[in-house]
Amino acid sequence: MSISETTPGVTMEEITALAKRRGFIFQSSEIYGGIGGFFDYGPLGAILKRNVKDAWWREMVELRDDVVAFDSSIIMHPSTWVASGHVAAFHDKLVDCRNCKHRFRADHLRSLDQCPDCGMRESLTEPRNFNLMMQTSIGPLEDSASRAYLRPETAQGIFVNFKNIYQSARKRPPFGIAQIGKSFRNEITPGNFTFRVREFEQAELEFFVPDDGKDMRWFDDWVSARKKWYSDYGVDATKLRFYQLTPEERPHYAKAGTDVEYLFPWGWGELESIAHRGTYDLDAHMQLSGKDLTFFDEATKTKFTPILIESSAGMDRTTLTMLIDAYRNESITDASGKSSTRIVLRFHPAIAPVQVGVFPLARNKPDLVARAHSIEQGLRAKARTQYDEGNVGQLYRRQDEIGTPYCVMVDYQTLDDGTVTVRDRDSMVQERVSGDSLTTYLSSRLLV
Ligand code: ATP
Repeated sequence: MSISETTPGVTMEEITALAKRRGFIFQSSEIYGGIGGFFDYGPLGAILKRNVKDAWWREMVELRDDVVAFDSSIIMHPSTWVASGHVAAFHDKLVDCRNCKHRFRADHLRSLDQCPDCGMRESLTEPRNFNLMMQTSIGPLEDSASRAYLRPETAQGIFVNFKNIYQSARKRPPFGIAQIGKSFRNEITPGNFTFRVREFEQAELEFFVPDDGKDMRWFDDWVSARKKWYSDYGVDATKLRFYQLTPEERPHYAKAGTDVEYLFPWGWGELESIAHRGTYDLDAHMQLSGKDLTFFDEATKTKFTPILIESSAGMDRTTLTMLIDAYRNESITDASGKSSTRIVLRFHPAIAPVQVGVFPLARNKPDLVARAHSIEQGLRAKARTQYDEGNVGQLYRRQDEIGTPYCVMVDYQTLDDGTVTVRDRDSMVQERVSGDSLTTYLSSRLLV
């Protein structure tokens, strides 16, 4: 058997079609015509995104002893966003076309002389500031006193709690605080499927270090750790780049910054930003709140404001990356020379929503069906499994399209000697495995 890629790369049309067909991602409120910049994760997409978040959490929190967990509220005291600078400066420049009424981000336009959609000259308005924070109001009155914001990033919840956290967790810098949660931005031009949306999840690590001259080493260590994470989960290294921001591209207080970018079908796009933010964030909150957020060292009875290294990754963009990166159109020629094609998602086993599919060879044979059900149930403690039945070719095709690494087929021989056929998604090779060793066989391969 030989397997080759027919068309390298994937188009966004192919990704959105597969996402809908197989239940990864749907447009939000589709029956009402949808709502721009919002998406829902279907039965498989919800698991895929959860797996991506779990993989981040495992690496950033569970496998370390210098990072603690956190989960802050989405709505915070409005002063938070004054101190962080979001009220005054979280703007994009907005431009409208007077002719076609389309709206653009000024920094996305090549020229302000001509509308890129209708082509009309001098139809664009002057760029004006548009604050990206979404507003809501708290309590029964809708006035300026009740105004609040849906957080545009999760990080501020960590900063304002810095003292509560280090004291209760008994941590001293260098140490980090991690959280995953929803953020909201009223993006002017949401687009590219789930890449730029108005409601999304961020995974943020805020790592606090003392000012002892090792801050840049910590920054470099975090860039390496994040590089390793993407590589461990199989993201194609040739489509990833770690772009070092120039001093002009960084905020004035940041000593270093690296953007992690992926080569999407439309070009490079940011997945994550890693930044050396100095003491800017804690200083800003201390100044406005008048509260002390320095670290007090009990041993030496001294206090200092720690330096912050931040890694901020978008979980929706990372999930989309996993889908795009795994997608292959393949053509297969079997031993007898017969050729066919398939779509396959070559997910890393830890990311795959279903890890093992189990089927009976025939769905009208109660013995086979009962045996397949019992094998599938027996595997549940070790893997994410799915029982399915029907035409064998279609069963494999469906599991390939959702990226299931292994399929177990229960046939007549199973009833005689307990063995099953295990098919490997990537090589399509089938092996006869004894029932007793099936769990070990699969778990050793799924843990790679
Ligand atoms: P961009 O330049 O693409 O708007 P940003 O530089 O404003 O992104 P950050 O504020 O650094 O983004 O946020 C950290 C991460 O959060 C981003 O790298 C991205 O993965 C994610 N993110 C930010 N905005 C969005 C969005 N509108 N939709 C989905 N994910 C987002």
